[in-house]
Amino acid sequence: MGSPAAAYQSGSGALDVDREFYRTLGATQRRELVESFVLPIRSGIAWQVPAGHLCRIVAIDGPQVGDLNIWNRHDPRERMWAARTRQLQAAHVSIFDRLWSTLPFLRPLATITGDSLADYGIDGEGGRVHDLLGTRCDPYVNRMLTGEDFDFHCHSNLTRAVLPHGLTEFDVHDVLNVFQCTGLNDEDRYFMKACPAKRGDFFEFFAEIDLLCALSTCPGGDLSVPLWGPDARDPIDVCRPLGIEVYRVDPDLLSGWSSPPTAAYRNLHGIELPRWES
Ligand code: ZN
Repeated sequence: MGSPAAAYQSGSGALDVDREFYRTLGATQRRELVESFVLPIRSGIAWQVPAGHLCRIVAIDGPQVGDLNIWNRHDPRERMWAARTRQLQAAHVSIFDRLWSTLPFLRPLATITGDSLADYGIDGEGGRVHDLLGTRCDPYVNRMLTGEDFDFHCHSNLTRAVLPHGLTEFDVHDVLNVFQCTGLNDEDRYFMKACPAKRGDFFEFFAEIDLLCALSTCPGGDLSVPLWGPDARDPIDVCRPLGIEVYRVDPDLLSGWSSPPTAAYRNLHGIELPRWES
């Protein structure tokens, strides 16, 4: 018995990706490193990735999960929409998948060009990497589950990271959990496994528009220690830094490419009645 077909399909090619273009970008050495920094354990940082640049997140010291947020740098109301990306792409993303933005914009913010864990596939327990099923850990749910306050959850790290950019806690949104291995168990409940990344593993994406990105080094580290429940303990010994690199691509490689437009829908819901005619 085959599995049901994906619900979100396009007859117009809207979900097609020019694989040769992105394969070339992912492989090219015609790139110049313009920014590089190390994100220490249990911290957050925000940085810009101009349209047409590549951004790489590197497990520089071994397994470590990173919680990623993405906004349109010029309008933070447009930001990554994890739920719609799950529908249009998959619940775990890899090369050629795109990270889509919220309504009313609905366009690819980024396209994944590199993933050294792409061959992980699905493991014996149903785990896959680069997770869009879950979201960031946060101090509110932690307090609810443990009765303790802890100020270095990904939500807090991302909040501190975006404050210098004029954003607040309310701009932090559902994340892409880079390097995180997750799935749904037999009870349809969310599980997290130990991060399979090794030193040097990377995840890379191409900025389709000017982006503001923020990343948190999850305080759970490689998630090999349960964050909650009877076996929980402070997993600080499995926390590691992550590297971030931004590359300018040789403009010759970008000929024919341009930033994608926002959604073409033209009716104005709530302001005037829909135009049913023609
Ligand atoms: Zn976290």
